[in-house]
Amino acid sequence: MAGSHGIYLKSAAELAIMRKGGLMLEQVLQEVAAAAVEGTTTAELDRIAFSRIKAMKAKPAFKGLYGFPATLCTSFNEEVVHGIPGKRKLQVGDILSIDCGLIYNGFYADSAITVAVGEISAEARRLMDVTFESLWKGIHAAQPGGRVSDIGAAIEEHVRAAGFHPTDNYTGHGVGRQLHEEPKVFNSALPRGPRLVPGMTLAVEPMINIGTSAAVELSDGWTVVTKDRSLSAHFEHTIAITQTGVEVLTCSNPR
Ligand code: MG
Ligand code: MG
Repeated sequence: MAGSHGIYLKSAAELAIMRKGGLMLEQVLQEVAAAAVEGTTTAELDRIAFSRIKAMKAKPAFKGLYGFPATLCTSFNEEVVHGIPGKRKLQVGDILSIDCGLIYNGFYADSAITVAVGEISAEARRLMDVTFESLWKGIHAAQPGGRVSDIGAAIEEHVRAAGFHPTDNYTGHGVGRQLHEEPKVFNSALPRGPRLVPGMTLAVEPMINIGTSAAVELSDGWTVVTKDRSLSAHFEHTIAITQTGVEVLTCSNPR
């Protein structure tokens, strides 16, 4: 059903499909995370994700979208988002953001995690923890009758209190029949955005940096890095606004 602001509201039947796809995606990310150990290449992680998605009779969402070549976006350390899987091996001390999407029965699910390879610095650990916490603060701030910006305000408040920075110009988004639908879900208190109403499905995805909010794209035309090359972390879930609150479609064990 078309809502206001070009937002497509999902029916109960559509939400049931998205819930199923969301839990498939959770499984894929868990398997990829388990394989993200020292010496593994990101291309290997990508193959695992591709074959798991195929085995589930779903489709990878990113491959071919806007010309992206892979199933996963894999972003190391100072890379914020959209890193392309390849021959680079994971090394102890790295943090790696792994973003994956799939299409199940015509509907998209979108989720991302950041994993640590072996022992990482205390600062990297704190960035990961704060980013993860900010995702859940944003999710719980999403209530029917509120505003989309309630999500971003909760994320930004938590991140700024820790001395970190949401990445400029990269946002979450509506998700459903398309990977990227209206509205944009900013990781900041402004702009205010439309009202949250039941049936809205959103990808909430704080992309948080240690040193700066500024990010630049590398010459590969995809990989986004922090301008000061400080570390960046990323967590994402697909959520649905319900009559009474919020449901996390890509997580079987919500906080
Ligand atoms: Mg994503
Ligand atoms: Mg997304």
